[in-house]
Amino acid sequence: MIDKDIGFVIKRINFRETSILASIYTMKFGKIQGLFKGFYTNKKEFSSSLDIFTLNEFVLYPRKSEIWLVSYAELIDGYDFLRRDIDKNSMAAMFARVVDKYTVLFYANPRVFYLLKYSLESLKSYSPERLIYIFMIKFLTICGFKPEFNLCIECHRPYADKMYFSVSSGGIICDKCRVLKKDAHSISPEASSAIEYIQRTGFPQVLRINLSKVCREEINFILRGFCKYHLHIDPFLNMSGKEYQA
Ligand SMILES: [Zn+2]
Repeated sequence: MIDKDIGFVIKRINFRETSILASIYTMKFGKIQGLFKGFYTNKKEFSSSLDIFTLNEFVLYPRKSEIWLVSYAELIDGYDFLRRDIDKNSMAAMFARVVDKYTVLFYANPRVFYLLKYSLESLKSYSPERLIYIFMIKFLTICGFKPEFNLCIECHRPYADKMYFSVSSGGIICDKCRVLKKDAHSISPEASSAIEYIQRTGFPQVLRINLSKVCREEINFILRGFCKYHLHIDPFLNMSGKEYQA
């Protein structure tokens, strides 16, 4: 069987002397592992550099094993503007790392593909600080990790005016259930409705969201705690150890 697909390179390693093994997030197949045999021998079939987060067209050979042979790669978009800016480059690499780490092989989800595409493109005009929480909230929602904001996660009742967020439970806690959870932190209605808005609003409208600094700090606090607790990553630290500020 032979097929064509487009996809983002999300991880790559050199394989033997002349080849590359890469994780690719494709449109039709979801995440695949592709082997590019003879990549370093200047084969004319590989006109792409296969750099991280480049978008390419591939000819591939789907089969039962976990690694698929890829015989052709042509660059569609290299996102060169990201490579000239260390903060944006670092953020784009984080998107790729999160998608590689938290998606399974051969499970197609075009929403992940488009989230990656729109997030990378949006870094052209928007700051990494804005994209980080839009990307993470949307990724967590699409992949089913989503923080629950509609009902109290303990008693499943609608909450009244006061609400709390528990990172370990992964959602909102009402005033009554608050005593059950040591890590329950109060959360403002502004922050909770902003997260809900990001969950349900598509690109490019979602980029126009305008939040107060206090609200951004609150969201960052929740998101960072959630990612550290449930995903064991800190998306707010870039590769050089710099912290993204709210
Ligand atoms: Zn409750």
